[in-house]
Amino acid sequence: MVPLEGFTTLRIGGPARELVEATTEGDLIDAVREADERGDRVLVLGGGSNLVVADAGFDGRVARVATRGVSLSREGERVAVRAAAGEPWDALVARLVDEGLAGVECLAGIPGLVGATPVQNVGAYGQEVSDTITRVRAWDRRDGRVVELAAGQCDFGYRDSLFKRDARDRYVVLAVTFALRPGGAPALRYGELTRALEGRDATLATVRDAVVSLRRAKGMVLDAGDPDSQSAGSFFVNPVVDEDTARGAEARARASGALREGESMPRFAAPGGRVKLAAGWLIERAGVAKGTRLGNAAVSQKHSLALVNRGGATARELLALAAMVRDAVRARLGVTLTPEPVFAGFDRDDPLASG
Ligand code: NAP
Repeated sequence: MVPLEGFTTLRIGGPARELVEATTEGDLIDAVREADERGDRVLVLGGGSNLVVADAGFDGRVARVATRGVSLSREGERVAVRAAAGEPWDALVARLVDEGLAGVECLAGIPGLVGATPVQNVGAYGQEVSDTITRVRAWDRRDGRVVELAAGQCDFGYRDSLFKRDARDRYVVLAVTFALRPGGAPALRYGELTRALEGRDATLATVRDAVVSLRRAKGMVLDAGDPDSQSAGSFFVNPVVDEDTARGAEARARASGALREGESMPRFAAPGGRVKLAAGWLIERAGVAKGTRLGNAAVSQKHSLALVNRGGATARELLALAAMVRDAVRARLGVTLTPEPVFAGFDRDDPLASG
């Protein structure tokens, strides 16, 4: 039995039956294939920054991704950056920014490993990895072979992809290739980021620094000195809803006094005429204050969207708090929040889902 809590940023969860650390692509494939052949459950573990492990632990094999390697090559006007799944994401961003390569500078300060980034199409402050990913190399557990998927085959959406949805357990990401723009300008598409840069030249480096500062102020940079960062980042996905649901949420917020005179609900256009809402805003206006505590689990004091372990929290406490948050938003604003982390060792993929 191998304790898992130390492998997660939440520091919650019981032990795994077995843990295999894979430092080469071959070892990673073998670790998963062997377990699949035995009919064992498999958890592919990256940085553990988006993971909730059950108190009872994980009754199966954990394959820890520890593959390394980054290579850069010129492809026309772009630089192709191929990184192994086990490369730490933030260090890669720092290196690419230092090398003057544009395309991922707004994604600084995000914990975890490269291999996790295509799964939920990691994005922040106006950029997402699908803007630059050209290929994903993966082990196809169903067909027992290595595949190279072009970006168009990955079915990227808002914090979503083929790897998360239809083929949830089918692929193990082995490496990701990004196409970056040498000497390109930084992306400035996000109001909060543009404001943070006021009075400074916008370069790749200043944008990276500004993003890290914004994230730090929200407890979204891993930091042993910041108890609010002992979390899995955002616990809920910003919901993308239909127009009626968005209008309904705004009307309910107004009727309950959660939305004051002259204020409007933050809403952003999403593909297909849908509307993206800010989950953190919904949580606050549903009456769940920052710092709300349930046992040793709490809503972060810096950002309503993060649930944190205040020390000694159990997965049970964390889920009870998550359910309380979700129920408050549903009851007061009519929007159902979906959790963002991966759950391991639970009976269902989403232990918060009813039924
Ligand atoms: P925030 O800035 O409070 O924004 C909340 C919501 O408003 C998000 O849905 C955000 O969209 C949206 N929004 C704000 N300005 C926008 C604009 N100019 N155009 C379109 N949409 C806009 O969010 P936060 O929770 O503090 O997070 C900051 C950033 O980190 C966000 O971009 C968030 O998505 C990102 N983040 C990503 C992950 C992840 O990939 N798993 C986890 C944590 C945070 P977007 O979400 O599209 O930006």
